[in-house]
Amino acid sequence: MTAPFFPGGDSAPAAPADLPALDRVLAAASAQALLDAFGRARVVAALRDRMAALRADALAGRMPAASAQPEAILREAGEALKRDSQPRLRPVFNLTGTVLHTNLGRALLPDEAVQAVARALTAPVNLEFDLQDGGRGDRDDVVEGLLRELTGAEAATVVNNNAAAVLLMLNALADKREVVVSRGELVEIGGAFRIPDIMKRAGARLVEVGTTNRTHEADYEQAIGPRTAMLMKVHCSNYAVTGFTKSVSVAETARIAHGRGLPATVDLGSGTLIDLVQWGLPREDTVRDTVLAGADLVTFSGDKLLGGPQAGLLVGRADLIRKIKKNPLKRALRVGKLTLAALEPVLALYRSPEFLAERLTTLRLLTRPQRLMQAAAERLRDIVQHAAGPAYRVQAAAMFSQIGSGALPVDQLPSCGLCIRHLGPGRPGRHLVRLEAGLRGLPRPVIGRLDDDALWLDLRCLEERDEAEFSAQLAHSL
Ligand SMILES: *Cc1c(COP(=O)(O)O)cnc(C)c1O
Repeated sequence: MTAPFFPGGDSAPAAPADLPALDRVLAAASAQALLDAFGRARVVAALRDRMAALRADALAGRMPAASAQPEAILREAGEALKRDSQPRLRPVFNLTGTVLHTNLGRALLPDEAVQAVARALTAPVNLEFDLQDGGRGDRDDVVEGLLRELTGAEAATVVNNNAAAVLLMLNALADKREVVVSRGELVEIGGAFRIPDIMKRAGARLVEVGTTNRTHEADYEQAIGPRTAMLMKVHCSNYAVTGFTKSVSVAETARIAHGRGLPATVDLGSGTLIDLVQWGLPREDTVRDTVLAGADLVTFSGDKLLGGPQAGLLVGRADLIRKIKKNPLKRALRVGKLTLAALEPVLALYRSPEFLAERLTTLRLLTRPQRLMQAAAERLRDIVQHAAGPAYRVQAAAMFSQIGSGALPVDQLPSCGLCIRHLGPGRPGRHLVRLEAGLRGLPRPVIGRLDDDALWLDLRCLEERDEAEFSAQLAHSL
């Protein structure tokens, strides 16, 4: 008969009766540190869990006597408590190459916003309090002035995200009435935001005009009837219609709408506040362009190209914004003080565009010169190679980043990073998946991109100040 294997070492198996009473475990020397860190209820629960597991092992004849010692039980229970206390929301390294990554929280905020949020978290603020007359204020006042200045619109309001802005706009202005939208713009934005579905939930009836690739002025003209509430345009965001195409401009849509006494609205999605061409980025209509072209209402996100916190911004005609603010959904979709605290300083940065590319984190990342990523790749190559081990080859490589979040989907930004391939026999996929999981399992998980039998780590979003943290956790191999 072979001797049973005990993972706990060479001690003999113990019986359930060898397990100490809970009180004895709690009286052991190292118990106090756990009680101080986690509180009595959690420590007791963790000890009971551990002892139940040991009892089951003992009944099966495979509990090493050593693991039944009070200190050993406390050690295991302590480890379990520590694992269970890790925050679920954790910082990661976004090396996916997608700067505005929805699943990784989109825009990173500048320090000004971080400070303002910290202040608003720990001190009372005049969120809805008018400091001039001591009466009740309106939370939209925090950013309305800035939004008017930056977009040229008459009025503005803020809600939880752009999906909420669209829902609110449709319900406030088109409940039980018709909204005319081009078939080429009936888009789905990742994560189940579909224009037709939002329309239905808002109580509005969708009237589709044109075809997928071509919509003409006359299509809009003919669709307008007595039940029409508005003409609406939607930014195509995450896809591009190319080839034999025709769409009607905002200016033209507005002209048609206004001729029939209707508003023209635009869901701009990303909503840039300033022309990005000056930083070598692709051209996008700004919110101001859209307002100037005649749109009566424009909705856009706070955490896409704008570079602020999650929010939905509505700007446009004062009478329409007033109507929207009276809608009960506005109360349900309103933003909290943290959002406004973060949004105000971000918008304020746009008043001095010459500093924007340095101070607005999103723009700084999007405009980061390729040579910086290349230098980082050269600095980090050996470290990553050492961590990955000899079964992999790590090379500095040119690659393309993308903006993300549906902004300018067809445009790519030249970048640089590390390309990791598996050497030797066997399908590379399995090995790369294992390496990818290893990186994901680090204290601050590293998220890369698997593609073309390689794992790509785009270094655009690893700024120099974060490199030390990145390298330190790779010091031990994966
Ligand atoms: C991103 C996007 C939305 C949704 O915005 P969220 O802020 O994510 O709610 C709606 N419409 C368009 C055109 C978009 O690009």
